Amino acid sequence: MKRVLSPDEAKKLKSMLDSCHNVVITCHPSPDGDAIGSSLALYEYLVRKGKSVQVIVPNYFPDFLKWMHDSDKIILFDRHRALSKSHFQYADLVVAMDYNSLSRLEDMTKPVEYSRAKKLMIDHHDNPDKFCDLTINRPDMSSTCELFYRILVEIGESNKISKYMAEDIYAGMCTDTGRFTYNSNDPDIFLIISELMRKGIDKDKIIRNLYNQNNEGRYRLMGYILLNKMELYPDLHASIFSVDREELSRFKYKKGDAEGFVNMPLEIKGMKVSISLREDTEKDQIFVSVRTYDDFSAHDLCVRFFNGGGHFNAAGGRLYCSMAEALNQAREALEYYRDVLSDR
Ligand code: 5GP
Ligand code: MN
Repeated sequence: MKRVLSPDEAKKLKSMLDSCHNVVITCHPSPDGDAIGSSLALYEYLVRKGKSVQVIVPNYFPDFLKWMHDSDKIILFDRHRALSKSHFQYADLVVAMDYNSLSRLEDMTKPVEYSRAKKLMIDHHDNPDKFCDLTINRPDMSSTCELFYRILVEIGESNKISKYMAEDIYAGMCTDTGRFTYNSNDPDIFLIISELMRKGIDKDKIIRNLYNQNNEGRYRLMGYILLNKMELYPDLHASIFSVDREELSRFKYKKGDAEGFVNMPLEIKGMKVSISLREDTEKDQIFVSVRTYDDFSAHDLCVRFFNGGGHFNAAGGRLYCSMAEALNQAREALEYYRDVLSDR
C-alpha cells in the first residue's frame, strides 16, 4: 500500500496521541457516515489507550448511524452547549475529523478556535485551513476513515484495530463512496476492506444497517421528487430538483430522509451533473448538493454559485434566498458551463 505519512508526521502524531490526556473529537455539521465513523473509530482507539475522550458533533446525525458502538455517548453541541464548552476548556487535544476549515463548524467555531488544546486534523477535503498543530490532509483518500486506517497501519497500531473500530471504518468508507461505486478505483481500498473483514465485521449487515432502515416517508418523498420535481436538461446532461419545507413536512420529513437523493438523476443515461436544492426545516436557508461525473467539477460549481465547496465530484453549499431564486441560480450555473457540458 502507498504511504500517507512522512516519517516526521508519523513521529509528531505518535507523540501527540501518547502525551494527551483529555481529548475532544469533533467533526462537521450534519455529520455523515464518514464523519461519525472516523470520530468513533478514533474514540475507541484512544479510550483503549486509557485516555479520557469525548466526541462532540455540531448537531444532529441521522438515525441510520446510531447502530455504531458508543454512538449514544456522542454529545450534540447545539443541545448541550455548556457541557460541550467545559469539555473544550479542559481538553489538551482537539481533533478535527473529516473537515478542514473552522468556518464549517458554524456555532461550534469559537469553542474549537479558542481552545488552548493542541489541535490535530485528519481529513480528506481539499485546501485545508491552517488552524492545527498537525494537519494530516489527503484529498486523494476516498474517506477520512480510509485515511485513518492507513495512519494506524503506518504508526504500527494495526493490531489495535478492534471489531468495533473496523465496523466504524468500513461504514465511513462505504458511505463516502456510495457503496464503492464512485471515488473508489484505488485497489488499496479493497485490501483495506479485506483486512477489516479479518477483524470479524459483518459487512453485509453493516450495509443493511446503513441503507435498509428507512422511513416510509423517504420513499414517498423520493417518488414525489422523481415524478413531479426533477427537471432534466438533456442538452446539458444535467438535472435540478428542489424541495421546500412544506413539501418535506407533507412527507413527515426527518433529518437524513433526503440523504443521497442527489445521486438519483445521475442514474439516468447521459447525465453528468445533478443539483439538489433543499430548504432547511429550521433556518431560512437552502442546502445545495451537487454531484458530477468524470472531469466536471462539483467543487468549482459550488464555489462559484453556491457559497460552498467540497470534493471534485461531490460538493455542497448554501443559498439564502427564496426557492424560486435558488432555482434560477442553479439554472444560471448550468448555463455558465454550457460550453463544457453540451456536446459540441
Ligand atoms: P453534501 O452534498 O453531502 O452535503 O456534501 C458533499 C460534500 O461537500 C461533503 O464532503 C461535504 O463535506 C462538502 N460540503 C458540503 N457543503 C460544503 C460547504 O459549504 N463548504 C465546503 N468546503 N464543503 C462542503
Ligand atoms: Mn468524508
